[in-house]
Amino acid sequence: MAGLSAATALAGTAARITVLDKGRGPGGRMAARRVEIAGDQVSFDHGAQYFTARDPAFRAAVAAWEQAGVAARWPVAGDDAWVGTPGMNACVRHMAAGLDVRWNMRAERLRRDGAVWQVEAGETVFTAATVLVAVPAEQAAVLLAEAAPDFAARAAGIASAPCWAVMASFAERLPLADTLRSDTGLISWAARNSAKPGRAGGETWVIHASPARSRELIDLPKDAVARILLGDFFASTGTAPTPPQHLDAHRWLYAQPETRKSEGPLYDPELRIGIAGDWLHSPRVEGAWLSGRAVALQERLASTS
Ligand SMILES: Cc1cc2nc3c(=O)[nH]c(=O)nc-3n(C[C@H](O)[C@H](O)[C@H](O)COP(=O)(O)OP(=O)(O)OC[C@H]3O[C@@H](n4cnc5c(N)ncnc54)[C@H](O)[C@@H]3O)c2cc1C
Repeated sequence: MAGLSAATALAGTAARITVLDKGRGPGGRMAARRVEIAGDQVSFDHGAQYFTARDPAFRAAVAAWEQAGVAARWPVAGDDAWVGTPGMNACVRHMAAGLDVRWNMRAERLRRDGAVWQVEAGETVFTAATVLVAVPAEQAAVLLAEAAPDFAARAAGIASAPCWAVMASFAERLPLADTLRSDTGLISWAARNSAKPGRAGGETWVIHASPARSRELIDLPKDAVARILLGDFFASTGTAPTPPQHLDAHRWLYAQPETRKSEGPLYDPELRIGIAGDWLHSPRVEGAWLSGRAVALQERLASTS
């Protein structure tokens, strides 16, 4: 979200923009996992669950997504709660559609070569006047260590909470409300994924373990974690255990920054390198979008001065 927000804000300038993402497709932490269950194609939002739109500029972007059919309100999560449709990653996919995005392309090294940057990604080397980095803090610290050690040190000062996410489907509807926040300390959030607007398929749930429970289970195999957390979910909600039709888990090592910089994006107008991401604004989709847009505005200023 932060990277594509920056690229969108720079599109239409003289800059020729290339976006590299190591993922197989659009989403990042606004991911959607597609699976086939009993012959139906079903999608789970296993990362971000919904997003708010409070800033006027972000609200305008979300209104455009709604017009395009890639976002809809989800009032059950709050008056200003939105989701991507038909999956959480739809907004990111929509943003990427108008840009030159290279999926499956992991930036491995950033190197200054005279007045330009070289970005090494596997066999390919990209040359650019400006590099903007929009990845979780822990990954930014590694990527920037050689190229921008000061920024790397700032990224290294951020710690993100992990989150184990469980994706489960059931033959029958569970006797529960659509969203649940639990105070048992085990489960932080659970939602009936199939209750979100535009979702196909039967009764599906996404269950997030709390940061403490996620840390406890961090190195266990995902199948074991899925079973343990499903048990936690039934125990926390006081629901009779029901065998799932489908059960899987995903480990987010850097789900949400626990500490963050309020200073805004990092940008060096001499070296033309900028850093954005939720950890430089607020640990939410909206924070990532605003951070990406802010670093793009700094780049626009530098490129015209
Ligand atoms: C389980 C979970 C629940 C959440 N719930 C909510 C919620 O309900 N509401 C909310 O607003 N927010 C929520 N969030 C937070 C929200 O998802 C993030 O704040 C936001 O999506 C961060 O966007 P970003 O662009 O900063 O980072 P990311 O989405 O992490 O994007 C970074 C991108 O960089 C790519 N990348 C990383 N390293 C490299 C590399 N070396 N080379 C190339 N590409 C690379 C990744 O593939 C990824 O696509 C949740 C997050 C998680 C994980």
